[in-house]
Amino acid sequence: MARGDGEAAGHHGGAGSGGAVLVLNAGSSSVKYRLIAAGTGRNGPQHLVRGQIERIGEPDGEAGDHAEAVGQVVEQLRDRPVTAVAHRVVHGGDRFREPVQIDDATLIAIEELARWAPLHNPAAAAGIRAARTALPQLPQLALFDTAFHATLPPAAFTYAIDRELAQQHGIRRYGFHGISIQYVVGETARLLQRPATQLNMIVLHLGNGASATAVADGASVDTSMGLTPLEGLVMGTRTGDIDPAVAFYLARAAGLNLDEVERQCQKHGGLAGLCGDNDLRAVQSRAVQGDPQAQLALDVYCHRIRKYIGAYHAVLGRLDAVVFTAGVGENSPVVRAGSLTGLQPLGITVDHALNDTRGSTARLISPIGSPVAVCVVPTDEERAIAQQTAAKLGLAGNW
Ligand code: ADP
Repeated sequence: MARGDGEAAGHHGGAGSGGAVLVLNAGSSSVKYRLIAAGTGRNGPQHLVRGQIERIGEPDGEAGDHAEAVGQVVEQLRDRPVTAVAHRVVHGGDRFREPVQIDDATLIAIEELARWAPLHNPAAAAGIRAARTALPQLPQLALFDTAFHATLPPAAFTYAIDRELAQQHGIRRYGFHGISIQYVVGETARLLQRPATQLNMIVLHLGNGASATAVADGASVDTSMGLTPLEGLVMGTRTGDIDPAVAFYLARAAGLNLDEVERQCQKHGGLAGLCGDNDLRAVQSRAVQGDPQAQLALDVYCHRIRKYIGAYHAVLGRLDAVVFTAGVGENSPVVRAGSLTGLQPLGITVDHALNDTRGSTARLISPIGSPVAVCVVPTDEERAIAQQTAAKLGLAGNW
């Protein structure tokens, strides 16, 4: 059964003049959903219903497959006016550079792109199929995590491998977390009261997956995730950057096959590999108690972020803001301070009192008058998807 925190039926709290967008975010074993209605006058958007169906396909799961999960969501929203359905898709390859209205060809392309996002794109495709069947009268849009990075220049997206092989197989940097990053860039511009198109910033999206993105005049010009979301920063269970020769060596020296090497990099690396815990809260509390493995994990995690900040400062030339977002970025003063240690020569400093103050809204944590604004900006992927959908369809109201 779908567990939502809205009402299962009824017309109260209905859509404003701009209508309501149903956002579906299908992961490998879950479907998150939210129904968002346009705000009117001075009101912001209303989050009418939100929920999650978990452990899809597992024996004790809430649905047998993604189609059944989407069926449950549609059933729960039966009496609600819905204007459009928006689907989050992880990989859009170099084909999808902006939100698209879904037709048969789009759906096939999303399924083909599963070769680079084998856990995520098939789930999204299954969700799209089910939603098109259940709600055939509504426009259905796909929004891609790769799309914001369509502006990467060739020097940043090209890997130094054999040119023909790269072309033949579409091997290049695509980048991810784009829906979140685009939203955070807009919110940072609002916080700093400057147009996004005039801001250079480094966005650190630090969740279970983690990435750094260099944004010049509002557009992505370099990003740490690559062909897949494995490259770059240290993550919960993913290694991030590693010498590719480690994989060859492991295969030969430890006798692992390709799948086993990949599992090491995807599931047994990162914080989990370093200290046995993938949740940063657990790592932090062990480090505070003097656990040396947890302390090293934290140090490696922060060192990698600091290195990317230095690199992207060089890529950007002028830096206006460093922005922290997602679970770790929004909630860990330890990681924020740890990754910015020693960056005063770059104009990057943290006011420790501000950094240690909890908050749920976008805020500055650098001293007033600092050359580089250090910001904490909460992300909201579902709202970002609704905003982009409304813009694409020309829906009225505040999103
Ligand atoms: P996802 O990438 O799955 O969306 P989130 O953005 O929710 O993940 O981030 C999850 C991470 O955020 C976990 O590592 C978790 O430990 C961390 N996190 C959440 N709250 C805190 C907190 N108060 N302090 C430190 N880390 C936190």
